[in-house]
Amino acid sequence: MNCNQWLPAQGSHCGQPGRPYAVGPRCPEHTPAAQAGRPEPLPGPGYTPQRLLTPQYRLAQAATAGTARTRTTSPRRTTS
Ligand SMILES: [Zn+2]
Repeated sequence: MNCNQWLPAQGSHCGQPGRPYAVGPRCPEHTPAAQAGRPEPLPGPGYTPQRLLTPQYRLAQAATAGTARTRTTSPRRTTS
């Protein structure tokens, strides 16, 4: 799986061996994190609900549960 990052200066794709990402195959030099200037995220389950089930998290969820879904009304919807 070769990096398909387009390199305008060379007029071709990168082509170095890489891994699949959401944006396509990328070598370590052209990963989304590298291009954003951030370190690569560590492998793992990430922020799963199981990891966040602290009392503070549950209180925050309870406090915001009623308001989280009321703000998602579509601005394009008309009532006429
Ligand atoms: Zn590359």
